[in-house]
Amino acid sequence: MATLRPSVACPARPTVKTEALHAVNMESIVLFGPPGAGKGTQAQRIMQSTGLPQVSTGDMLRASVAAGTETGMKAKKFMDAGQLVPDDVIIALIRDRIQDADASNGVMFDGFPRTIPQAEALAGITNVSHVIAIEVPDEKIVERICGRYTCGNCGAVYHDTFNPTKTEGTCNSCGSSDFKRRADDNADTVMSRLSAYHEQTSPLADWYDSKGIFHRIDGDRAIDEISTDILIALE
Ligand SMILES: [Zn+2]
Repeated sequence: MATLRPSVACPARPTVKTEALHAVNMESIVLFGPPGAGKGTQAQRIMQSTGLPQVSTGDMLRASVAAGTETGMKAKKFMDAGQLVPDDVIIALIRDRIQDADASNGVMFDGFPRTIPQAEALAGITNVSHVIAIEVPDEKIVERICGRYTCGNCGAVYHDTFNPTKTEGTCNSCGSSDFKRRADDNADTVMSRLSAYHEQTSPLADWYDSKGIFHRIDGDRAIDEISTDILIALE
C-alpha cells in the first residue's frame, strides 16, 4: 500500500544490514497479515533480503490448473464445482513446489496455512522456522482502506488523511472533479473482513506460539521500521 502513516523517528532502533541475511540453511517462513496491513510490501522486502521465493497457494493453484498438471486437474474439479480445494491437494502442490531449485533454502508462505490441520500437514513436509505476523489495529486499517479514492478520469490515487488532493475536489494530475470510491472499501465491509481474519488466524497464532516460532510485528509504523524488525526476527 502506498499510503502509510508518516514516519516517526526512532534513533534507538537497531539497523540490520540486509546483505548479512542471506538464506544459507534457512528454513521456510510463514507470513500473516490482515488485508490492508502492508503485507505485500513486506513480502517483497523479505524476498529481497532472504532470497526465499514467495509461495502463494492461490497463485500456485491457478498455475497448476493452467499447466494442466495432475494435481492441477484434481484441483480444477473442485474449483469448477465451486468447492474449496481440499487440504491434501494443496499440500501435494506445495510438496512439488518446494522441490524446485529456487526453494532449496526454504520458501516464504503467504496465505497458507489458514487452519491448524493445514499447519500440521505443512509441518509434515517442510520445516517452518519462523512465523511473522504483521499486526495493525483494526481501526487503523479501516482508516487506511476507507480513506482511499481515485480520480475517475485519470486514475490518480488519493487518501482522505494521508494523501489528499492539493485543492479539495480537484485532481492534482488532470483537474477532474470526478472521484471514485470502491464499494467494498466501506467501513462495515472492511470490519467484517478483519473479524473473519482474526477468527481464522488466532487459533493458528496460538498454535505457532506454542512452538515458540511466532513473531508479532507492529505494522502501524513506517515501512522501513517494520522491515527492520522482521529481519531481526528472522535472524
Ligand atoms: Zn485525474
